[in-house]
Amino acid sequence: MIKKLCGALLLVSLFLCGCGKKQEITNDTLNAILEKDILTVGVKVDTPPFGYLDKNGQNIGFDVDLARFIAEKLLKDSNKITFVPVNTANRIMKLASGEVDMIAATMSITPQRQIILDFSLPYHVAGQAILVKKNSKITSLSDLENKKVIIVYGSTVEQSLRSNIPNIKILGYKTYPEAYQALKAGKADAMIADDTILLGFTMNDKTLKILPKRYSKEPYALVFRKGEESKELLKTVNMELEEALNNGKIRQLKAKWGIN
Ligand code: GLU
Repeated sequence: MIKKLCGALLLVSLFLCGCGKKQEITNDTLNAILEKDILTVGVKVDTPPFGYLDKNGQNIGFDVDLARFIAEKLLKDSNKITFVPVNTANRIMKLASGEVDMIAATMSITPQRQIILDFSLPYHVAGQAILVKKNSKITSLSDLENKKVIIVYGSTVEQSLRSNIPNIKILGYKTYPEAYQALKAGKADAMIADDTILLGFTMNDKTLKILPKRYSKEPYALVFRKGEESKELLKTVNMELEEALNNGKIRQLKAKWGIN
């Protein structure tokens, strides 16, 4: 009888242990992705060559390919992925609300953002640059005092301009195409954004020029909710990223999308 009771107790405690373990695992984002068998990623749809749409409305770009690479590594299939459109201003909210598991959207690591988010290893370093009309007399940032400058809301440029050049008049837009069109339409004297993004818009545009100086270092990384829940996912992603950075995979992808 005592033996039977002990056996029953053992079974109950094993069962309870099992439940405890299971709960721990379901809180883990990596485990949730494996269970769903799909990776949900926030990507840009307005930022060539990193994240945009082809003529059939399919997500394409460097960040899109990078996200597919991560899906391939996690789920053994680069098509087990759902893309959710994000923009510069709403991407953090989409991640925090749980709508996406990860962001792959030209997002720079900054000390301020690191307080609330977890970042992977950087996979590209851009730099802020000034875009002006071909015939513009503006040659540097200091020429922009009391001038109107176009930026995209939520970007690192918005933050740095507001704190470094108090006299600048900022004209903000939600998306890069809108910002670019506004500069072309003469609504401001210049636009400031990451050089690689500006290049994506001006590659075949002879009416604008990117000034040579760079005003920041923008290390792009994949982004996760901060804390314990992302720990395993971040560790796995970083392992794969490190290998891809070392074995030429990232270099190959950059070449595919014309990124230096
Ligand atoms: N890399 C900059 C940032 O993270 C600008 C690019 C963007 O707007 O996504 O804010």
